[in-house]
Amino acid sequence: MTALIETRHLTKVFGRGIFKRSNPLVALNNLSLTIEESPPTITAIVGESGSGKTTFARLILGLADPTSGEVCYRGVNLRQLDQDQRRQFLRDVQVIFQDPYEVYNPFYRIDHVLEEPISNFRLAESKAQGRELIADALTAVGLRPEETLGRYPHQLSGGQRQRVMVARALLLRPRVIIADEPVSMIDASLRATVIESLRDLNRQFGISLIYITHDLTTAYQLSENIVVLYRGAVAEVGDVERVVKEPEHPYTRLLIGSIPRPDPKHPWGIKENVLDTTDKDGARQQGCYFADRCPEVMQICREKIPPLYQTAPHRATACHLYNESPVVESETLNKIFIARA
Ligand code: SF4
Repeated sequence: MTALIETRHLTKVFGRGIFKRSNPLVALNNLSLTIEESPPTITAIVGESGSGKTTFARLILGLADPTSGEVCYRGVNLRQLDQDQRRQFLRDVQVIFQDPYEVYNPFYRIDHVLEEPISNFRLAESKAQGRELIADALTAVGLRPEETLGRYPHQLSGGQRQRVMVARALLLRPRVIIADEPVSMIDASLRATVIESLRDLNRQFGISLIYITHDLTTAYQLSENIVVLYRGAVAEVGDVERVVKEPEHPYTRLLIGSIPRPDPKHPWGIKENVLDTTDKDGARQQGCYFADRCPEVMQICREKIPPLYQTAPHRATACHLYNESPVVESETLNKIFIARA
């Protein structure tokens, strides 16, 4: 069966300034991932700033062109979609951005962002039917239509504004939603409500999610499978339960070690310098990208890029520490993912 969305060896390289005197920046390196029509899945793409996760989202949405590789929608390269296919793509693939406030026009009531998709995609035959669809979508994400409609964006909390965005996406009954840091600008106390709304989209409405985040805690709460990126390359991938509880890649271990916990011996930020993935001039061009920061670096790490080793049925790690495991041969990371029971 043709996949709904497929990224094939997706790579994005940025030049460095108009004179290109320094090394190009590889923002994303050879990422192949598939989202099937069914079953609906939740995949977290996790990494710190500069890891390539937002570049990945922009490429999937067709907001940027890959340097090599391609993104296909129902088997057709995004750049080759005809008008009808493009329209269907815009309906099937929705996005929820990090900052819900930016999406709103402060001069319009909340109703406006919900009425727009209804009129653009002619979802209703009458105004009354449109209002009914909006009310249903708001109720589905846990908002009371009578307390939400008619208000201006600043009259809602950050969590409510983001849930209106989830309702907006739901109106179109998409097949997949790319949620790019959807809770990072929301108070911690309200995050759970948005996470719950996203989970409901998957469970009740059969919508797949690609959850892009720097936050391993919410990735663990929400997703089934996880892809950990470091400097645009896959560091570790697999069943979220095992990756988070028994991380293999030294970078994943440091990420997990940096999660704040009520222990004065493990203060937040202790390993910030190790987690810093922002690229620097003279960044490593050969060997493991993590070698300069890895506590377990070996000679081979500086000479050879580690392939992805399949260390267990549902996990794989790009690290020479696991070179006795078989190299992942599959074209797509999905061969490693668990399928939900
Ligand atoms: Fe560390 Fe080497 Fe593994 Fe890279 S390949 S993460 S440098 S041990």
